Amino acid sequence: MMSSTFHQGGELVYGRDGNATWEALEVAIGGLEGGAATAFASGLAAIAAVVESLPVPGRVVVAADAYSGTRRLLSDLASRGRLRFRTADIAHTGATLQTCAETVSGPGRPSGEADEFGAGGILWLESPTNPLLAVADLAALATGAHELGMDVVVDNTFATPLLQRPLDLGADLVVHSATKFLAGHSDVVLGAAVTRRPEVDFGLRRRRSLHGAVPGPWEAWLTLRGIRTLEVRLSRAQATAGELARRLCDHPNVEGVRYPGLASHPGHQLAARQMDGFGAMIAFEVRGGAAAAEAVTAHLGLLVVGTSLGGVESLVERRGRWEGEDYLPQGLLRMSVGIESVEDIWSDLDRALRAT
Ligand SMILES: *Cc1c(COP(=O)(O)O)cnc(C)c1O
Repeated sequence: MMSSTFHQGGELVYGRDGNATWEALEVAIGGLEGGAATAFASGLAAIAAVVESLPVPGRVVVAADAYSGTRRLLSDLASRGRLRFRTADIAHTGATLQTCAETVSGPGRPSGEADEFGAGGILWLESPTNPLLAVADLAALATGAHELGMDVVVDNTFATPLLQRPLDLGADLVVHSATKFLAGHSDVVLGAAVTRRPEVDFGLRRRRSLHGAVPGPWEAWLTLRGIRTLEVRLSRAQATAGELARRLCDHPNVEGVRYPGLASHPGHQLAARQMDGFGAMIAFEVRGGAAAAEAVTAHLGLLVVGTSLGGVESLVERRGRWEGEDYLPQGLLRMSVGIESVEDIWSDLDRALRAT
């Protein structure tokens, strides 16, 4: 609804507090995840609304290769004394829960109410992770974290609710960059948070109004329209990703293909149990490191070289080029598989790989 204000006396008052198009979008995303959704201006706005509402000092354990923006925000808040955080290799449940136990048992109980969201600490998960595609045992981690009094957040951007529903697996909150698969056409920036706990939902909505991190109605409408084709786009892209991953494994200029659908992926069995599909994201290493990987991207024609993911067009990027991502294998390319013909994608990729 393209309006900043509404006739007095109705349910809607002002465009920073409510909009009928947001509500339609929230019904759609909430329905898919099985909870109440709140739409935000971006994925990071949703993430910020969660971490900035933690009682001070917040205590967070985060996936070591979680989305770089999440880690940058946590570092920023930590540097200003608002929270303490530690990273964990979330593919290893026992080690992650050990880190959780150490993090929440330390000194300094936060100032908030004991039942406030995150008062006992937060475990922040992604699965599969961006960009290493590690798979976390969400149900086991949620159970273990709850036993420690922590709340569990899952960034479900890579899987989408069609492939994985973290609230059903015990998570307290799901966040999304709807910019990616949900909107699906690389033309929108928008985020969402979903929960089954009414008081958490209320707190997020309040924070959205306080911070003004509201989505534009046009962006909400485009996201809603994108969701209509989510299943069709995702099943096509996912089928293509599976085929490309298999072919990349046999490519002479590629080493180490990461795709949860490959039997060689350490999280394959777990992903097969926990997810309804393996998704459309692949990461692989080009033989020869950073220079060789950059040369591959320079030779791509059909495939778009750029950041972001989840669009109808395939996107390729060397993640190690970003600040904060220098821990990654330098020849690692992340590929978001689009809906182009598999043979068109393969011939472009194969040609670029052989040109290095
Ligand atoms: C892109 C992304 C985000 C951030 O979302 P924006 O919409 O870009 O703000 C968060 N998490 C993951 C996993 C992402 O890929």
